[in-house]
Formats: sequence, structure tokens, C-alpha cells
Amino acid sequence: MLSPIRLVSEAAELAAHRHNGLARKGRSSDPYINHLAEVANLLATATDGADAELVAAGWLHDTIEDTDTTREELAQRFSERVASLVVECTDDMSLPKAERRRLQVLEAPKKSPGAKLIKIADKISNTAARIQTDPSAEEREDLADYVEWATQVVAGCRGGNPWLDEKFDAAVKAARAVL
Ligand code: ZN
Repeated sequence: MLSPIRLVSEAAELAAHRHNGLARKGRSSDPYINHLAEVANLLATATDGADAELVAAGWLHDTIEDTDTTREELAQRFSERVASLVVECTDDMSLPKAERRRLQVLEAPKKSPGAKLIKIADKISNTAARIQTDPSAEEREDLADYVEWATQVVAGCRGGNPWLDEKFDAAVKAARAVL
């Protein structure tokens, strides 16, 4: 087992390499790594640095979904728990988007406590990325649509970390202010 600092550091490096050249989802054209750094840092802050595997999984949470990374590789390089947290946060990309979204709402309450925190942090980051100072009609519609869905997913994940719950509520409030 890697030391906590090595676990997080190696997760950040692998994520940076695997998502290299990719821009984030949503309206913002930030490099993808910015999203991963934000999610990992939200998790580190929420748990006050007490759970290195959770922070590592935050860095890696989109690697299986968006890159050629496998569960086996993550289990071998990091730990079984890191791999399993990432798998819990991986959508079946062979399904249409509407079905993936429906399943996220349905399955959120059944996730492990750690995966629930990653999902909330992910929704905080993705909501914030969609908030524009002067949104077009299309951007406004995308934000409204995202916030409505994310609120349903987060409803099934709340209660494990009040600070993270509040951060999500604040992101939703900021989004509603521009809608
Ligand atoms: Zn993500």
C-alpha cells in the first residue's frame, strides 16, 4: 500500500496523463484536469485530509469512463477500494445519455458512502462550470437542465458530509441566480 501522499500524488499524475488533451464536459473549455483537481480538492477539504484513498479516487473518478483505464489497473496501482470507488462513479457509456442520467438518480442511494461524496463533489464542479456571467439561451437551458438532474442525484447521496451538502446547495443557488 502506497503512503497517503504517494497515493494522491500518483493518482493526480495518472489522471493528468490519461485525460491529457481533453477539455471538460459542459460549456467551459477548461482542461479536463481542472475538473479533476477541483473534485479531489473538494473531497480533501470535506474530509480534512483524513481519507487519501477517497482523494485519489476523486482524481481518478472519470478515468474508466473517459479513457482506456481499467478497474484492474487501478486496483493494482492503487488499491481495491480506490478501484471500486471509481467503478461506482462510472456510467455505462454504451447507454444513451437520458438512460445514464435516469440510472444515476436511481442508483445514487445504493452507492457506498465514499462514492456518494465523489458524486456530490462532481456535481458541484459541473454545476459551477456551467454558470456563465452572460449565458446564451442554450447555455441557460443546459444549466437549468443540469441543475434539475444533479439535484435529484445529490438527493440520493446527501447526509454523509454536511459541508459538501452545503457546497452543493450554494452551487445550485448560484446557478438559480443566473437562470
Ligand atoms: Zn467528473
